Amino acid sequence: MGQSEISPGQVIADENASDGKARQQDAGNAVSSGALCPSAPWKQEGAVVFGIAGGTAKAPRVMFLKQMMAPAPELEAKLKGVEPEEVFRVAAPCAGARCQHHNGETKGCNLATNIVQQVDQVYDQWATCGIRANCVWWAQEGTKACVRCPQIATRNKVPSEEIRRASTPSPVSA
Ligand code: SF4
Repeated sequence: MGQSEISPGQVIADENASDGKARQQDAGNAVSSGALCPSAPWKQEGAVVFGIAGGTAKAPRVMFLKQMMAPAPELEAKLKGVEPEEVFRVAAPCAGARCQHHNGETKGCNLATNIVQQVDQVYDQWATCGIRANCVWWAQEGTKACVRCPQIATRNKVPSEEIRRASTPSPVSA
């Protein structure tokens, strides 16, 4: 990932999980609790596509899908080298403490907090969004997250300064 790209809620390495069991268990816990990260990597286990970026590269405006799509290889092939996270918004089970944006003290999502505190809203009203009932950002920040969320592309090579800053992971403290 280049320095100018923003950071999705990527799973970070778990030093204690050499066989991946702990990670799977964490994802399983997230599935059972229903918590979904709305800025997940395309290839994360349990991923689902819930939005498509409209607007421009500098000012994306996500359009939320009425029907979720699977992040299928055929869909990726149509992008002809463009990274899926530049075009699609993907949700996946929250990785909890294994995510680079996880706040070890509050157990919350630093990315959601930073977006609400540092990025201007782009709409006055929140759009219909297919993952709202399970969205970690919504659960934590409510409508303040939703009126900012459509300008987020999980991978953006030309992010605004405020989005670049808000997306920079804070040190994981747990
Ligand atoms: S923050 Fe709101 S608009 Fe964004 S994915 Fe979550 S529920 Fe949907």
